[in-house]
Amino acid sequence: MLRTSRVLHPITSLGPGRRLGIWVQGCTLACKGCMSRDTWDAGAGTPLSVDHLLELWREAVRAGVDGLTVSGGEPLEQAAALTEFLASVPLEGRDVLLYTGHELGELDDEQRAVLGHVDAVITGRYVAGEQPGLIWRGSANQRLVPLTPLGEERYRPFVDLASRAQVQVRVDDGLLWLVGVPPAGVLPKVEKRLRDNGIVFEEAAWRP
Ligand code: SF4
Repeated sequence: MLRTSRVLHPITSLGPGRRLGIWVQGCTLACKGCMSRDTWDAGAGTPLSVDHLLELWREAVRAGVDGLTVSGGEPLEQAAALTEFLASVPLEGRDVLLYTGHELGELDDEQRAVLGHVDAVITGRYVAGEQPGLIWRGSANQRLVPLTPLGEERYRPFVDLASRAQVQVRVDDGLLWLVGVPPAGVLPKVEKRLRDNGIVFEEAAWRP
């Protein structure tokens, strides 16, 4: 079982093309300024079996996705379950991008095993105040590292690519999801703009 926060597609702001996004539930790294505090509690979220995740993947493939992005939360805190899933995904030329708050040198054997099924990884904690500037990353310390020949082909051109932040907005079941890496200061502005239009958040994942 992989405990997840949410699974969405198509995602277009966390990796190239249209992707299935899986947000893993649970993170103990507690980066100051994290916009996804709702993913911290390892007891929250929804446990999904590998079979269920594979069905979601097949459904996304039928809808035309180009790849899979695994984010969180901290995916490597469920390394064994994630390896089991990634080892069985029929990718058929599609790539896997993984986000982790860890640096590569911090990983144990079980966590490194996950990377054996990943084409590119974005590493490092979110550091508030360090403006990103680089595509798909939240702060300038985070590195995009291609790990396979496919990863080299698809991700090498983006390693040092500066980019304006892209954010997707999704509404599901009364919840508003912002998918991507918003620039610093944008979230309170979004909240104010919505409040001015009569939409008030009961909670926001970026507030302590
Ligand atoms: S930014 Fe990522 S690694 Fe850091 S606390 Fe938030 S979910 Fe965890």
